Amino acid sequence: MNKVRVRFAPSPTGPLHIGGVRTCLYNYLFARQHGGDLIFRIEDTDSSRFVAGAEQYILEAFDWLGIKFDEGVSFGGDKGPYRQSERREIYKKYVGELLDAGKAYYAFDTPEELEAARKETPNFQYDARTRGRMRNSLTLGLDEAKRLIAAGEKYVVRFLIDPGEDVVVNDMIRGEVKINSSILDDKVLYKSADELPTYHLANIVDDHLMEVTHVIRGEEWLPSSPLHMLLYRAFGWEDPRFAHLPLLLAPEGNGKLSKRDGDKYGFPVFPLEWKDPKTGTISSGYRESGYLPEAVVNFLALLGWNPGDDNEVMTMQQLIDTFNIEHCSKNGARFDVKKMLWFNHHYLQECDEQILVNALQADLKANGIAETDARVRQIAGLMKERVNLPKELWEQCAFFWQAPEEFDAKSLKKWWKDEAPQYVAALCDFLESQDDWRGETLEGKVMEWIASKEWAVGKVMNAFRVTLVGAARGPQIFAITDFLGKEESLRRARKAVETLSV
Ligand code: GLU
Repeated sequence: MNKVRVRFAPSPTGPLHIGGVRTCLYNYLFARQHGGDLIFRIEDTDSSRFVAGAEQYILEAFDWLGIKFDEGVSFGGDKGPYRQSERREIYKKYVGELLDAGKAYYAFDTPEELEAARKETPNFQYDARTRGRMRNSLTLGLDEAKRLIAAGEKYVVRFLIDPGEDVVVNDMIRGEVKINSSILDDKVLYKSADELPTYHLANIVDDHLMEVTHVIRGEEWLPSSPLHMLLYRAFGWEDPRFAHLPLLLAPEGNGKLSKRDGDKYGFPVFPLEWKDPKTGTISSGYRESGYLPEAVVNFLALLGWNPGDDNEVMTMQQLIDTFNIEHCSKNGARFDVKKMLWFNHHYLQECDEQILVNALQADLKANGIAETDARVRQIAGLMKERVNLPKELWEQCAFFWQAPEEFDAKSLKKWWKDEAPQYVAALCDFLESQDDWRGETLEGKVMEWIASKEWAVGKVMNAFRVTLVGAARGPQIFAITDFLGKEESLRRARKAVETLSV
């Protein structure tokens, strides 16, 4: 069998949607597990939709995610150039081949003429039934067509589709998808106005010349595939295998995942933050929001495929080993925000703690607090199990640096009653006498002391906790006193006893 070659072929029309990221990931997993190549091709033949910076953005996103290309724009290779706008001459040659073979023809219909035809014929389609009354080289004759072209008239080249033929697309996920060629129109393959081919021609010519063996792409391209099959046939080329991936659905309802859903449910739909070069509008990205690349990859891999057991947490290598394109689902895959956060939580527990330190340091700085990385690391390690995103740390941890000024009403109601002030005052006196302030030593001493008083541990310690934190929450209490130190712990507790009346 030929070496497996797949490609990811985005059009640089803006930031890459998370669905495109999944498409590329599946291509990557497929290539790796078959010892094949992944090509990065830029499909920029529609110059009206070109957006500056998009190509760079896409490369940066995959670099961040750890998805590597073997060949293509910015990676080199011997089948280039890999940017379609640099391949004009190649496409012209192949368009010429179809024209010479009578499998395509010139058409001169102006937008007005096309509009008139649409008005005249309901559901107008440029095809075997209508092409005989339009202005093209079939009706005018080739000589007249050549004369018009020489005189500078604008034209397009259309693919001549024979009606009444069954076209079968053998999809690795969907099985046989059969359609009749009569429902297809004579697609435009080339436009003289910009001397560029359309997506369809460029796409299949490149897949052929770049020796692509498998086309793995989003479901939205499924309707184009019969046309692509006919083009392969017209050239006499072997067609690649196809796999059309399931749509990504919004968290609720039947619609596909859109940027609006992201705004509504508070999650990014782009891998990296994107600033629109025209409007300046900023769209949030997974990276800047504090998601880890491993979590994004793991989550996306399971949107449309699963390993068939309970195993959900998988490294890139495990995904490569177990991914099976034929087991992808045909149905849309629902985007589950909670699941994404769950994965991020999981990977945060294992990640390089410096990531958490940096996030906390940024918030400390914003609050005018200078602290050493070593001490911030101590808190990050202690608190990370409570957060899904690094930016949630500050809210959970601020009390380590900011003494409570207000106290949570619910916590007070529950724990600041009866003898609570006396307990804490007495505890402060006891603590004052302790020289060894290390958490693990202090804990034993305090427990012995409470037992000797025959007080309820819960009542004493929760009241004490409220004075240090401002609420009945936070990690182990002696981890808190340890970090705050003797002086600050006692200062907070005594001040609270003073300010809080029962
Ligand atoms: N340029 C198309 C896109 O933007 C590629 C579709 C395909 O993979 O054939 O998705």
